[in-house]
Amino acid sequence: MTDLLSFSLPELEAFLTSLGEKRFVASQLFRWLHYQRVTDFDEMTNLSKQLREKLQKNCYISGCAIEKKLVSVYDSTVKYLFSLPDGERIESVVMQYKYGYTICVSSQVGCKMGCTFCASGIAGFVRNLLPGEILAQVYTAARDLDVRISHIVMMGVGEPLDNFDNVLRFLSLVTDENGYNLSMRNISLSTCGVVPGIYRLMEEKLQLTLSVSLHAPNDEIRLRTMPVNKRWPIETLMKACRAYTKETGRRISFEYALISGVNDSDENAAELAMLLRGMLCHVNLIPVNSVKERDYVRSQPARIQSFLRVLEQHHINATVRRTLGSDINASCGQLRRGEGVGSNQT
Ligand code: SAH
Repeated sequence: MTDLLSFSLPELEAFLTSLGEKRFVASQLFRWLHYQRVTDFDEMTNLSKQLREKLQKNCYISGCAIEKKLVSVYDSTVKYLFSLPDGERIESVVMQYKYGYTICVSSQVGCKMGCTFCASGIAGFVRNLLPGEILAQVYTAARDLDVRISHIVMMGVGEPLDNFDNVLRFLSLVTDENGYNLSMRNISLSTCGVVPGIYRLMEEKLQLTLSVSLHAPNDEIRLRTMPVNKRWPIETLMKACRAYTKETGRRISFEYALISGVNDSDENAAELAMLLRGMLCHVNLIPVNSVKERDYVRSQPARIQSFLRVLEQHHINATVRRTLGSDINASCGQLRRGEGVGSNQT
């Protein structure tokens, strides 16, 4: 079975002409899929009944079924547990900011990267998501909440640069002006530091924001929490980041989860500042979020402020990220494949 939602317009044209249809029908179908965003062939009223039946028989439209939906009582953040056509499950989160709605989407079922503080990889890696399955998270949430989602962060379950082709295709579909027409500038893509992926992304020269999950100022500390650092140590990663900012002119956002006693001293901050000196970047400090299988402790507010001050003294642009959805385990690093979702809920 073919997933229609994952096709670009030219691919849809090729597919439909192979079924004996005229090319313009592909544009109509594309509009139904990505502009009206219907999920049922019967709603595609300007397509012939015969074609609809043919599509029904040979194709499907990637979808996310809402298995569970949790709404934060503090800030209206919504966490979805979606199930996919093959029964696998993923999580997505929608956050409301002054400037609009942001969705945090997953790019894989599970994760291979094994960062020790993160819940996403605990149950292992299962498979990549199709472009249509990443899109369906956006479309389904927007439909369910009846809002326009204006921003996307690829910061849910999975490593986007480990599913490069599908992620790129998703980006192209979601920004298509005949479809959802989201601005590339409103998209952030986060990586734990898959260096070849950073170079490949650089070649695309996209206007999105690249986030790099750094979480440590040196290899010794980074190796304790991020196995990816064995393959691509900090120096290699920084070289790629510098090339990326130079080539794209885009600022990189470095994520730094503060873990008490692990990476949060003033010395660590000073070392981080040296590492990032002269670079077009921003540092996002995140008090580490709790994951029930792990016992990392978040840094105290005074420690965080002190860390921030040291960065500022070194003229490094930095902010502390606000935590949203803390009552529904919807924060960074808390999304997972699905087992045990909401188990802490009352
Ligand atoms: N694989 C990508 C995408 C995941 S983004 C990446 O690693 O960047 C999720 C972000 O949350 C990453 O920056 C990740 O390192 C961070 N994160 C993971 N677990 C966390 C935790 N327990 N507390 C705070 N941030 C965490």
